[in-house]
Amino acid sequence: MRSLLIVGAGLAGVRAAEGARAAGWSGPITILGEEAHAPYDRPPLSKAVLSAEEPPAVPRLRSEEVIETLEVRHLPGVRAEGLDTEGRSVTTSAGEIGYDALVIATGSTATTVPELAGIRGVHVLRRYDDALAVRESLARSREVVIVGAGFIGSEIASAARARGIEVTLLEASDRPLARAVGPRAATRLMHLHAEAGVRLLTSTTVSGIRSTDRGIDKVELSTGEAVAADAVVLGIGARPATDWLRGSGVALDPRSGGVRCDRRLATSAPGVWAAGDIACVDGVRSEHWTAAGEQGRIAGANAAGATEDFASVPFAWSTWHGHRIQVVGETTAADEEDHGDGFVLYRRHGTAVGAVGIDSPGPVARLRRSLAQTPGVGPQRAATGGVVSARESRE
Ligand SMILES: Cc1cc2nc3c(=O)[nH]c(=O)nc-3n(C[C@H](O)[C@H](O)[C@H](O)COP(=O)(O)OP(=O)(O)OC[C@H]3O[C@@H](n4cnc5c(N)ncnc54)[C@H](O)[C@@H]3O)c2cc1C
Repeated sequence: MRSLLIVGAGLAGVRAAEGARAAGWSGPITILGEEAHAPYDRPPLSKAVLSAEEPPAVPRLRSEEVIETLEVRHLPGVRAEGLDTEGRSVTTSAGEIGYDALVIATGSTATTVPELAGIRGVHVLRRYDDALAVRESLARSREVVIVGAGFIGSEIASAARARGIEVTLLEASDRPLARAVGPRAATRLMHLHAEAGVRLLTSTTVSGIRSTDRGIDKVELSTGEAVAADAVVLGIGARPATDWLRGSGVALDPRSGGVRCDRRLATSAPGVWAAGDIACVDGVRSEHWTAAGEQGRIAGANAAGATEDFASVPFAWSTWHGHRIQVVGETTAADEEDHGDGFVLYRRHGTAVGAVGIDSPGPVARLRRSLAQTPGVGPQRAATGGVVSARESRE
């Protein structure tokens, strides 16, 4: 019987298994992931998992029963280390695993700053274990510095403020999400931080950290100021987890570093599909939950013989200080209109192409439905530089 191997036990990996079964794959399915946990969901890591009110728990993607019903063999704690596309096998920390069809879904790795590596109290947030470390650090902190005012940095700032911690949020650009949304939407987002008491410093980076044996003392900023901090959390982006593909012949996108695939999520290697944060579809990496799940399902289905295209309207959400933020369609390089009530609309040649909503789920949902019926407002638009799903949108 033909076997399907899925590398990466995150959202895209689990959805690939579901997509394959739904499309009729009857052979064995193995899903391996280097983390020791059951497949889990990432959005709660920078929200509920950091909250003082809720006890930390792994936010499982699917119950054990569902995984059993799917007849999927999950191998936790197993790392993929190499890929032989001709011999159709993956070298792993637990030995060679052969396949007939392969879905690559290894997601991203948080970007770090080499000069800050190893300093106690400096964190990134990508994995559940990172979230536990950040949570513990917040519980002991009175002041924190967060580097990067994108989605993740801003969510961590929100969690810290909810605990009553003094937050300095640094942004290298002149506004938050500068490469993902226009200046009017960014101004509204900045207000959310100001109202919540976050000290947001734009056009500012870290130039050094003064620490003692007990941990961080002061963070030196590019402006010359030194800010007291008990912890530093970096939210400065992520890069595709492709190290294990080196020399495999699977083509990578030279610009984003993601796995190059077509709209069917087929890679350059026969029998190999890619999905989720790692996939670069027609030149675009999505790096959002909705796209990762949809791509996973489609990659699994296509590995099982279907011929579906990925063509969703770009969509992302976030929560800052209790406010729900939604970003849909094309939100850069288009005319920006602030409609008040937290809804910023983007038009190109008079036609609505995207929106940023703050606590505006109704208008966002209506626009999202209408864009889904508009030809050309899919991921291919981003290849021309216009769609929100570029990498910076989750930084
Ligand atoms: C903290 C955080 C909060 C987020 N919040 C939101 C949100 O509010 N809204 C939104 O739209 N999106 C959000 N996202 C983005 C969303 O979670 C991602 O787009 C989605 O998780 C991507 O799924 P994936 O399966 O491609 O990758 P991942 O979820 O990263 O899963 C990849 C898996 O592969 C494993 N792996 C990596 N390398 C190897 C290897 N060599 N061998 C074996 N296993 C490997 C990893 O351990 C990981 O478990 C958030 C992301 C993070 C990190």
